[in-house]
Amino acid sequence: MAAPKSKTKVMASKTKPPAKAKAPARAAKVKAPKPRIHGGVPASLVPLKARIRTIPNYPKPGIMFRDITTLLQDPFGFRKLVDDLVQPHAGHRIDAVAGIEARGFIIGGAVAHQLSVGFIPVRKKGKLPWDTIGIDYQLEYGTDRIEIHKDAITRGQSVLLVDDLIATGGTATAAIKLLRQAGANIVGCSFVIDLPDLGGKKRIEAMGVPVQALVEFEGE
Ligand code: AMP
Repeated sequence: MAAPKSKTKVMASKTKPPAKAKAPARAAKVKAPKPRIHGGVPASLVPLKARIRTIPNYPKPGIMFRDITTLLQDPFGFRKLVDDLVQPHAGHRIDAVAGIEARGFIIGGAVAHQLSVGFIPVRKKGKLPWDTIGIDYQLEYGTDRIEIHKDAITRGQSVLLVDDLIATGGTATAAIKLLRQAGANIVGCSFVIDLPDLGGKKRIEAMGVPVQALVEFEGE
């Protein structure tokens, strides 16, 4: 019975010594992002307008597409944009924010959160899952339709309408009519960008709705 014991010993001596327990891995160092400098100006001081990217001839020749994704992805820019949109409404009654698909959802959602109110999506035709009410409106070529759920508004609610950009005002004026038809009191319209040459802001103001836009660009 002694032999198997010594054999076991020999075998044991051949096996590799157990690896030393590794020291617990040090938590990976998280480097704080370097303050971004735009032409010598700290990122926090760069005006909103400079954070918006312009793409010429998109989606068709002649259009200067004002791309707010560069503004949204920038933590200073997104924070400031929401703060600036909310600031004039401090102390005023707002019961809900309505946002127009799709960029109006991003901005309107953040504004609603900041105001501690609910959010109402104004969507393109056929996107909402339940019973809807809608309105057709004129485009340059043809018509389009926006819709809300038929129970989205409680009659008499004070609603702030939000979108990224006001151009001709066709979409926003249709949204105002639809929300009013559902019983909303539209207390204001807030946009990041106004294209004043296209007259949309004046059209909305003519409906008795105050308009706020943070930056303006010439042309369409
Ligand atoms: P309108 O109904 O003419 O006021 O157009 C407003 C809608 O079209 C908004 O939802 C914008 O997102 C979009 N839009 C119109 N013109 C531009 C532009 N130059 N750059 C980016 N978006 C635009």
